[in-house]
Amino acid sequence: MTSLRYISTRQGSRPPVERLTFEEVMLAGLARDGGLYVPESWPTLSRTDIAALRGLSYVELATRIIAPFVGDTFDAVTLARLVREAYAGFDDTDVVKLKPLPVDDLYVLELFHGPTFAFKDVALQLLGRMLDTLLKRSGRHARIVGATSGDTGSAAIEAVRDRAAIDIFMLHPRGRVSEVQRRQMTTVLAPNVHNIAIEGTFDDCQDLAKACFNDLPFRDRHCLTAVNSINFARVMAQIVYYFDAALKLGAPDRPVSFCVPTGNFGNIYAGYAARAMGLPIERLLIASNSNDILTRFIDSGEQRLSGVTPTFSPSMDIQVSSNFERFLFDLFDRDGRALAAAMEDFRATGAMKVTAAQLARTRQTFDAGRLDDAGTLRAIAEAERETGELLDPHTAVAYAVARQKRGDRKVPMVVLSTAHPAKFPDAVRQATGEAPPLPARLADLATRPERYEVLPNDISALKRLIDGVSVFA
Ligand SMILES: *Cc1c(COP(=O)(O)O)cnc(C)c1O
Repeated sequence: MTSLRYISTRQGSRPPVERLTFEEVMLAGLARDGGLYVPESWPTLSRTDIAALRGLSYVELATRIIAPFVGDTFDAVTLARLVREAYAGFDDTDVVKLKPLPVDDLYVLELFHGPTFAFKDVALQLLGRMLDTLLKRSGRHARIVGATSGDTGSAAIEAVRDRAAIDIFMLHPRGRVSEVQRRQMTTVLAPNVHNIAIEGTFDDCQDLAKACFNDLPFRDRHCLTAVNSINFARVMAQIVYYFDAALKLGAPDRPVSFCVPTGNFGNIYAGYAARAMGLPIERLLIASNSNDILTRFIDSGEQRLSGVTPTFSPSMDIQVSSNFERFLFDLFDRDGRALAAAMEDFRATGAMKVTAAQLARTRQTFDAGRLDDAGTLRAIAEAERETGELLDPHTAVAYAVARQKRGDRKVPMVVLSTAHPAKFPDAVRQATGEAPPLPARLADLATRPERYEVLPNDISALKRLIDGVSVFA
């Protein structure tokens, strides 16, 4: 069997055309032509293949689903070990938890049972281990530089803590992340974890991180890498829970729909991938908060930029969904040149329109709905009253959209739950009058010792700090 290769969504726009292995994709991040990597073709499973997956444990299922994507990069024994270790730290033995809700034949799929109580752990716990293994194998060491507004930083830190081949430098805006979010990062005292509080805003942090990557000698000297949501390995790991939930609900004999609280489109794109692989998914519902560029696209066929509004669901506060380009690549019949031209035009004008035929094709798979902050609070209260479940604000948006757009009652609808409600105590308290209790594993968070450096918003200070950390510290 020849190994699966990856191509850029803008392939052909700037020759040469590259066909990368999984290992190369893991280490590369963004493609040189500005595109994102996608598999040259999707591995497909027949109905019989899918039926044969019934009853597997999550770890066994993950190993099977992921194997064709990694190709020769990991042998079967190594892959099985990496997957097992990635999910050993989850507080639910099933890794993810599917619960029926007593309304509208809805289900909720809890993806927040990892170390930081957010769904990003599902992908990052595996990605961190894969990256560490690849680096060690080739005697290399890499440094991750990232910026966080609070939520994703801790998942990235937990994913690489204590890994010998990786140092992580995570920038957060000083005084502008919640205490729980800061402590989830700064109480990780592993020697390879470097938390940096920047005297500035989240945008300043992002600009500093970008400036590190744009300094090519600096980037090469430190083998800089990112673990952001455009890394294909994250999509790959997320495909698994779509299969897991659908199998539990009767796949391949019964179709299933999913409603996904969407920001960068990474999570829901994994559902699209599962469908492309043969899983009978009827509909994928995009749930947006007031930052609704994708919902407006589904309504009108036009992506149009507007500013970002802060909401109760900050991980969905986006201007552009980066992973959406992966879907557009298919919508453009995998014509990388045409897509590159459209994306450049989008960047220049702030708008991009697809044809009526392309919009009709999009709607065969996707539908979308939005919910503002007032609606989010009502949805949290309503879900608690009607189902007994306390939902975090991101999940609450999806819950409300799933009910708005319920569709065919014979098809079960699964709402993806992306964070533990205790991560967003203010919104939950406003909605229900009670703050959700911190999970036992975080109970002593407020008293654990912290470690972080404070730096001015100054690129040379940051580079000096990174230069000063020795690899063998
Ligand atoms: C990241 C995140 C999302 C958005 O997921 P995307 O893959 O970016 O669409 C939703 N909810 C929570 C809690 C998140 O952390």
